[in-house]
Amino acid sequence: MLLSKSETDLLISEISRELGAKRDGGNKNLVATCPFCGKAGKFGVYIGKETERKKPFMSHCFSCGGATYTLDQLLSTIGRPDLGVTQTADLKAPLEPSLLFPLETEEEIDDTLGIVELPDFYKRCFSHSYLKGRGFVYDDYEYFPVGTTGRLNFKFNDYVLFPVIDEGDIVGYVARHVMAKSEIEAHNRKAKFQGKYPIMRFRNSTENDFIKLLYNYDAVLPDETDTVIIVEGIFDVIALTRKLELYDNTRLAVVATFGKKISQTQIFKLQRKGVETVVIGYDGDAVEAIKKMATELSPYFEVFIADITDSEKDWEDLSYDEIYTVFAYGLKTPIEYKINKI
Ligand SMILES: [Zn+2]
Repeated sequence: MLLSKSETDLLISEISRELGAKRDGGNKNLVATCPFCGKAGKFGVYIGKETERKKPFMSHCFSCGGATYTLDQLLSTIGRPDLGVTQTADLKAPLEPSLLFPLETEEEIDDTLGIVELPDFYKRCFSHSYLKGRGFVYDDYEYFPVGTTGRLNFKFNDYVLFPVIDEGDIVGYVARHVMAKSEIEAHNRKAKFQGKYPIMRFRNSTENDFIKLLYNYDAVLPDETDTVIIVEGIFDVIALTRKLELYDNTRLAVVATFGKKISQTQIFKLQRKGVETVVIGYDGDAVEAIKKMATELSPYFEVFIADITDSEKDWEDLSYDEIYTVFAYGLKTPIEYKINKI
């Protein structure tokens, strides 16, 4: 159920009165005496914005563990089922996700994620010769945690590992071998004949499907970041953030979809944080993928395409001036893009 602001405000004030609750410092919880066990100051009712794991009006007692998960459960627990909100059309209310995603099958968007452990002996680093070679500067290590397992975990010898973070939790990692793609390919061609093991360019986590993840998702701030640039991979996110100096820009963020396509779950994750405009920043060679994605995104966002005209290049290869030109003069609407790119 999605509530309008006036409904939410009314519920918060009624629930506060019923429980004799106070707001916590961050204004995200009501703190009250527990209706289950009677302990004072241990019962929290979440009243912040909806997040990955928290829904408004979820409640929990830190003393007895009593909890409610829906508004209706909470209202009946505190003896005020009369406050239950009957759904009426409210034109000012934000749209419910089910209205935004009219899936014929009524299948739910599964955005649940498990927390993932980084490989044994993972240690964050702030300097690395491979990353230096790819242009990393101090801020990159600071804003985009990366590490290695040293020589202690042979499976990840010669890999750099990027945790994928979502609402502060580690939900995956990308491990990239430190050899260039062409070197790896050359090595693997030889290895095949010599009966040696091939080198895997990536050894990523497998617990959560990457179609449910976005790299740099936490840089998208709810109802503050209105524009998101969508790129293919981690190195694109970091290169664009560095070259456009977006580290502390809260209105504009860069996220990666881990490939040349976007899933309904990834769209939902951006929609839910209030993103209004998206700029597709896939590599210049991804013309068909970009056209398809522009069509998929158009019902939900204002869509632009940052057209890298040189199909050989990605964001890491482009200079600041080239990137500036793309964003200042080269943004195309989906229709312009489809007409111009054959
Ligand atoms: Zn309790």
